[in-house]
Amino acid sequence: MATLLQDLIRIIPDPERIITENIDRKYLSDQLGRKQGHADALIFAVSTEEVSGVLRYAWKHAIAVTPRGAGTNLVGSTVPQKGGIILDLSRMNRILELDEDTFTVTVEPGILLRDLQAYVEARGLFYPPDPGEKEASIGGNISTNAGGMRAVKYGVTRDYVRGLELVTADGTVMTVGTKNVKDTTGLPLKHLIIGAEGTLAVITKCILRLIPKPETTVSVLIPYPDLKTGIGSVIRFLRADADPVAVEFMERSVVRLGEAYAGVKYPDGPGAAGKGKRAESYILLSFDGSRSEVEQKVERVRRLAFENGSLDYLPLWDPKQAAEIWAVRGALVKAVEAVSEQEPIDLVVPIDKSEEFIRFVNDLSARTGMQMISFGHAGDGNVHLCVVRGDRDEETWERELDANLSELYSRTYEIGGLISGEHGLGISKRKYFFKEADPANVDWMNRIKDALDPKHILNDRISYIR
Ligand SMILES: Cc1cc2nc3c(=O)[nH]c(=O)nc-3n(C[C@H](O)[C@H](O)[C@H](O)COP(=O)(O)OP(=O)(O)OC[C@H]3O[C@@H](n4cnc5c(N)ncnc54)[C@H](O)[C@@H]3O)c2cc1C
Repeated sequence: MATLLQDLIRIIPDPERIITENIDRKYLSDQLGRKQGHADALIFAVSTEEVSGVLRYAWKHAIAVTPRGAGTNLVGSTVPQKGGIILDLSRMNRILELDEDTFTVTVEPGILLRDLQAYVEARGLFYPPDPGEKEASIGGNISTNAGGMRAVKYGVTRDYVRGLELVTADGTVMTVGTKNVKDTTGLPLKHLIIGAEGTLAVITKCILRLIPKPETTVSVLIPYPDLKTGIGSVIRFLRADADPVAVEFMERSVVRLGEAYAGVKYPDGPGAAGKGKRAESYILLSFDGSRSEVEQKVERVRRLAFENGSLDYLPLWDPKQAAEIWAVRGALVKAVEAVSEQEPIDLVVPIDKSEEFIRFVNDLSARTGMQMISFGHAGDGNVHLCVVRGDRDEETWERELDANLSELYSRTYEIGGLISGEHGLGISKRKYFFKEADPANVDWMNRIKDALDPKHILNDRISYIR
């Protein structure tokens, strides 16, 4: 250990940024903190040169490296599996350049999504990707191809990455992509890195695409008597040329937990068309554009909502109220987690299959007795489920969870879906991925890993890596 420390001090000149004793447990885990790894050193890098130096050293000595952003992942992808070095990028968090003429911003990977969004919006610009966890880093968002709320209209993180500076496993510094809009100049290496969960290279600089900030954004909360009716109306909204930015669905049971957690109350009483029924599910939409465009979209969807059985229709013109309603949505994972251990699922199905899939989930839950709370990005088929442990002992929980997940994922693939829409595979989902994915697909992913990191030092044993 003394030798490792002495070697690392030659690369990282500040001993305060190298921890080799009593590494805080949070760095050995993910946001959930249940799976714990082990490491010989935790390093807080502050420059590309330091990242390169650490990787050159690790490469030479075949030492495992786990890159880490803000550690908010939910799948164990920052749990060091093979010891070695945790390479924390959170202190590389500067904004390097705002180029308003090319609509790009260049940042270091450790900047938090929240800080980037605030910075560009204060200048009349907009970074559309909007995953629920605003304290995630941009490097982490890129490494998981984070999705989030606004994917329906704007797409996912991948769509906003113009270029990256990388350090490959052997310490080579390389740039992939540029500020240019178009690029047919050889293989798109950038796209291999996006969503690779830190298995192929470490991101040290990010050139991101921006758009002008929309003039107005307004959200609408629509209560429904049941989940089926709510989800059933989503396709109608999408077809209505109303161009929603976000379309989220939530069951009443999970909203109740979110309300308690965030201290905000959702309206659940019968509205104008309520006919005495109470809300059992909600669709939360948002629209953006000029004020008049937004007003038209809100009205177009109002008619469709009532035609499709909504109990009420609540445009949230007051930004404070809208922020409170969204705060409940943003808090759902943490709200469920506060009540019971749970396994968060983020599978994705074709949008026209969402309703059928949720029905399958409810049937499975009734049959197996395993509580499954559903919410998610209804507009893009990204179903979030919290599979709730309740008072099961460890052995029963592991066994029953595995049986339920096997059924869930098998059905997901049957209807054309995928195991992860945005969280990644990490260590939690790789078993099911290997079971369901096309073997040729898995094989080529592993060949790419072997080509870029033949010694398997970067984030080995997670995700698709056999
Ligand atoms: C309450 C809550 C809500 C969430 N909502 C969403 C959501 O709506 N949509 C969504 O997509 N996700 C969501 N997440 C999951 C999580 O926030 C995302 O996966 C996020 O992108 C992770 O970013 P991070 O900085 O925390 O990365 P980390 O957790 O630190 O790392 C994630 C992965 O990226 C790798 N990595 C990190 N930085 C780098 C780098 N610079 N170079 C190479 N590899 C790197 C790590 O090795 C790891 O494999 C949510 C999480 C929570 C807790």
